[in-house]
Amino acid sequence: MQFIDLSAQQKRIRNEIEANIRKVLDHGLYIMGPEVNKLEEKLAEFINVKHAVSCASGTDALLLSLLTYNVGPGDAVFTTPFTFIATAEMISLLGATPVFVDIDPKTYNIDPDHLNKAITAINDQDPSVYSLPRALKHELPTITPKGVIAVDLFGLPCNFDHINSVAEKHGLFVIEDAAQSFGAEYKGKKACSLAEIGCTSFFPAKPFGCYGDGGMCFADNDKLAEIMQSLRVHGKGNHKYENIRIGINGRLDTLQAAILLAKFDILPEEVELRHKAASKYTELLIAAGNKLSTPFVPDGYKSVWAQYSVLASDEEHRTNLQTKLRDAGIPTAIYYPKPLHLQAAFASLGYKEGDFPIGEDFARRIFSLPMHPYLKKEEQKKIADIVKNPSRP
Ligand SMILES: *Cc1c(COP(=O)(O)O)cnc(C)c1O
Repeated sequence: MQFIDLSAQQKRIRNEIEANIRKVLDHGLYIMGPEVNKLEEKLAEFINVKHAVSCASGTDALLLSLLTYNVGPGDAVFTTPFTFIATAEMISLLGATPVFVDIDPKTYNIDPDHLNKAITAINDQDPSVYSLPRALKHELPTITPKGVIAVDLFGLPCNFDHINSVAEKHGLFVIEDAAQSFGAEYKGKKACSLAEIGCTSFFPAKPFGCYGDGGMCFADNDKLAEIMQSLRVHGKGNHKYENIRIGINGRLDTLQAAILLAKFDILPEEVELRHKAASKYTELLIAAGNKLSTPFVPDGYKSVWAQYSVLASDEEHRTNLQTKLRDAGIPTAIYYPKPLHLQAAFASLGYKEGDFPIGEDFARRIFSLPMHPYLKKEEQKKIADIVKNPSRP
């Protein structure tokens, strides 16, 4: 059994993919060829925003957005410690300070009430209000809240009504890190459109992936989109050799756009297949019992199930279940075994174990089961049977 089966998808659309690749080989416009613009137009329409700005990865999408808001030294950007490194990494790369905020135990996403407390703690320079980066105690007076990156973890959108209103109250920007949630929905709106800028990733294993690295930013605001378009090509002005700001080389390859165009045609159907697989898991696992918590999806939300992640009762229970599954040839994965505030990369912030108890607890208990649109019911039944009788040989 595969954790994510990309070959089943490829078998369905291999001809279209090959035809699209051949077109690129024929016209030879490998950089910013017509497929790039076509993909941007299609995806902007799908997400229902005015502008889609493609780029070289999900990480570059975050970098471009933060650059667009002029994030730099002295800025605090609030985010979750329970995410992939890239989210907080780009904040630090620009010399700004990532300020972590614990997660909601039901959704695994950033908790908007905690966010409000963390912003207040920075504004008041008062770590008794919320856990702040200890090592920056003496620099706190020079650090100002600037923005929030909210991550739609495992494909489930965050509570954006609440997050946007907290941010607005404090005058902060909000970036939606939708790297895992392309195709998800929140109150009738598509993920990637839930904050002023939405960022996604086309890394192969994401719900909408290409065959290499790729990413995209989404925005309604003309000015923000124009800045991102400039930043992704070395800060260009009206002309390639007129440079009006410092940017990066962050374009999406034409070949990757061509591959995504072929995949886009079956995306809505694949999203439905993911929903079916997730509902089946939940039904089977609830019936199997064995103290395993299944994912919670609030009313009005549609996850795209980048991962189907469950919570064991403790670390030993998780190890036990993962071992039994592995022995039966079923791969599982842990996203994420170590919250970001405890990673060596962020040691200079001075966070400690105990600062974000929910994220820390979940890092010890969470694991993800195989999930992709082509998962078979029989495979899911096998998994549920093993969960039910974890001690059988
Ligand atoms: C994958 C991912 C990224 C980075 O995307 P890349 O395309 O790999 O650079 C950023 N944030 C989250 C939450 C991700 O899952």
